[in-house]
Amino acid sequence: MSPPEPPTRILILGSGILGSALAAHLSDFHDHYPIPGFTVQVLSPPSTHEPSIAHKSSTSLAPGLIGQLNALPPLTTLAKTSVQEYLTLPPGCFSQVGGLEIANTPEGIATLEQRLEQALAVGLEARLLDSEEVAGLAPQFHQPDKGAKGLYFPTDGVAEPERIVDAYQASARARDVEFIEATALGIKHLNGVVVGVRTTTGIIGADKVIVASGIWTPKIVEDLIHLPVIPVAHPYIHGPARPARAKETPFVRWPEKSVYARDHGACEGFGTYDHKPLPVEAGESAEKGWDSSFDSAAEKALSSFPEETRKQIQGEGSRRMNGVFAVTPDGLPIAGPVRGVEGLWVAAAVWITHAAGVAELVTGMVLGREDGGEEEVELRKALDPVRFEGREEEELKKESGGRYNDIYNLEE
Ligand SMILES: Cc1cc2nc3c(=O)[nH]c(=O)nc-3n(C[C@H](O)[C@H](O)[C@H](O)COP(=O)(O)OP(=O)(O)OC[C@H]3O[C@@H](n4cnc5c(N)ncnc54)[C@H](O)[C@@H]3O)c2cc1C
Repeated sequence: MSPPEPPTRILILGSGILGSALAAHLSDFHDHYPIPGFTVQVLSPPSTHEPSIAHKSSTSLAPGLIGQLNALPPLTTLAKTSVQEYLTLPPGCFSQVGGLEIANTPEGIATLEQRLEQALAVGLEARLLDSEEVAGLAPQFHQPDKGAKGLYFPTDGVAEPERIVDAYQASARARDVEFIEATALGIKHLNGVVVGVRTTTGIIGADKVIVASGIWTPKIVEDLIHLPVIPVAHPYIHGPARPARAKETPFVRWPEKSVYARDHGACEGFGTYDHKPLPVEAGESAEKGWDSSFDSAAEKALSSFPEETRKQIQGEGSRRMNGVFAVTPDGLPIAGPVRGVEGLWVAAAVWITHAAGVAELVTGMVLGREDGGEEEVELRKALDPVRFEGREEEELKKESGGRYNDIYNLEE
């Protein structure tokens, strides 16, 4: 009898929402793996208790709005899959509070009407509401105004991204996934085949590597592929604490103003895209210091709220944050194999909104499963890193910057 095959070692780089979702998905398929077996490990930099050098992931900073309808069809598909999965996670990970888009101009309302049609066409529940109804659902963010309308998506909601990470990691640990503290420095390969990862604690051997390191992904694979994953800075503000409401209200977006807000339970929060895109270096942390170029956009965003809310949010105890996430030239995540290096995949520029869907897709690729039909084939094609091959780096960077101001792809 021949000796048993050694297990296939899968190593995931990154333990944000994507790396954690991948760990849970890959370990879930343990029993179905077509070859003798595999092990899953997750690598991420050691946590530090020194606040001045804290390494924060994008996931830890995201307010977690989950709006499923996107003018880019792959994103709607991935968001719908993700919402279905988040609904199965423990309470507190995802709340299906609904989402509202508010418009005040005839053009803005026409866009809402178009989006209503798009939503219904892809099987997403949506209703156009008059201003009174909108104010009834989210009174702190809207006061009745005859000229306004709202598009309501009852199945959208808000995530608590760190709780989702905890839930995925608990599930993965229960299935023997090992979490290792070290920083990846590069991929080690031999004759075009992955053999491991160079890390700050030495080489870790692996047969399959998935780089899911968010804004840090391009650097780890820079000698193998150029990835147009551009880190951009984004302002978000938490208002001071206030008494919690009996029921959390839907999140709200004002697409014409590039402003959004959510009820965090203990406070309100809002963000704005209405400023010049600010590309930054990934650096040590996804949290940067506040940039004064955000001041006027934040001030302007406040004018979207009723006066009482505006005053409350501006009160003592509000916190301004500059968080970094990634944009790409076409507004889609990058997820798929790195050509020419067998056993290497990348998955980056993935929102909380799409993370479970992308994890499912990449799991299928890594395990060599092809059972998702036409839709899966289309998704793989749309997200394939190869799509940027041969394009000029500067041009890609410029296109990515343009995506920031149309983050919901409303102008497709
Ligand atoms: C202010 C802000 C608001 C946002 N709002 C929303 C929102 O409302 N809705 C939404 O869907 N999304 C939102 N996003 C986007 C979303 O947070 C990110 O796209 C998502 O969290 C990315 O997840 P990730 O796991 O790919 O990356 P990250 O969460 O950044 O995780 C990367 C992981 O890689 C690890 N890592 C880094 N370097 C290395 C290395 N060298 N070796 C090994 N591991 C490494 C990190 O430690 C971390 O564990 C927002 C982001 C920000 C910053």
